[in-house]
Amino acid sequence: MLARDFVFQSRPARVVFGAGSLQHLERELQTLGMQRALILCTPEQRWLADVIASALGDRVAGIFDGAVMHVPMAVVRNARQYAQSVRADGMIAAGGGSTIGLAKALALDAGMPIVAIPTTYAGSEMTPIFGITEGQLKRTGTDSQVLPKVVIYDPQLTLTLPIEMSIVNGLNALAHAAEGLYARDANPITSLMAEEAIASLARGIPAICSDGGDAGGRDAMLYGAWLAGTVLGNVGMALHHKLCHTLGGTFNLPHALTHAIMLPHALAYNAGAAPEAMRRIARALGADSAPLGVYELACRHGVPMALRDLGLGTADLDRAADIACANPYWNPRPIERDAIRALLQDAFAGSPPAMV
Ligand code: NAD
Repeated sequence: MLARDFVFQSRPARVVFGAGSLQHLERELQTLGMQRALILCTPEQRWLADVIASALGDRVAGIFDGAVMHVPMAVVRNARQYAQSVRADGMIAAGGGSTIGLAKALALDAGMPIVAIPTTYAGSEMTPIFGITEGQLKRTGTDSQVLPKVVIYDPQLTLTLPIEMSIVNGLNALAHAAEGLYARDANPITSLMAEEAIASLARGIPAICSDGGDAGGRDAMLYGAWLAGTVLGNVGMALHHKLCHTLGGTFNLPHALTHAIMLPHALAYNAGAAPEAMRRIARALGADSAPLGVYELACRHGVPMALRDLGLGTADLDRAADIACANPYWNPRPIERDAIRALLQDAFAGSPPAMV
């Protein structure tokens, strides 16, 4: 028997998954009728764009290698101008969340279809969420127009992602799945995906930690990231994401590592209010407790778990607590300022999560 009524919105991207699946790119462009593709990448991944361009020949209209973090408006304008000058009729976004973010920004007004080839575990390719930064302000929004038409997941393209970055990126993906399990609009389908995502990431992390070239480990990480991204694109996020947005936005802390540090503490805060989600997270991790299971997974694989090592000062904790409690996201447990301040203290020190 189902616990409650629900709404599930299927997002119609076509997914091609598997080691070596980049070889199917031309077939996918043909199916879409894309004749003059613009390849987007960061300057660091220009080599990948060159490999793709030489394999596709005439189907590529040009390469724009200016994608950077946070999708600055000036970069969007340059890319749009370039796309018009080469008469592009679609985009291939080869890279992580920053490159896919640029493609989304272009799709928003130009309406060009996107084929995404993700090379990290951020999961942006599965969400209708876009963000563009102008001045100091990041404008975010949701529009189904920005969703890629096709996503090619080739785990071989993640082999070059440094191990530490892969683990932290994987824990960031795990956070999307974990919060998805207690989301207000969670449903049986996204919960299945979330639990499978956590189990897959928890299998992948130890495998790639001992050998970054482990093919099975890389498959498991990218598969988990796909499912976690789908959860992020379908249901609302709660306290954990609010804390991370506060720490990232106000104190400029690194995005994925902040997620890894905060998740055990946010889960501990919500444990009493979301027992079924905790049971499923713990089961997926093969642990007795969800918050401790995540904390130990991170510690065992060398993740530095203290906010103080990221340059945050003790004096910042009160301000972070205030901001995180102002306009909170929906959360299964009401937001209590003193408990949030205590949780931040634990994360600051790198202590195990306290069950409060
Ligand atoms: P990123 O795209 O910023 O990439 C970081 C660096 O790693 C870049 O230099 C990139 O070229 C390099 N890189 C990427 N893949 C590589 C590989 N396989 N080997 C070697 N180097 C590689 O990092 P990210 O973590 O993927 O994305 C983070 C951004 O994505 C953030 O701005 C975040 O806000 C955004 N994001 C958006 C959504 C959404 O739904 N809109 C979801 C998740 C993340």
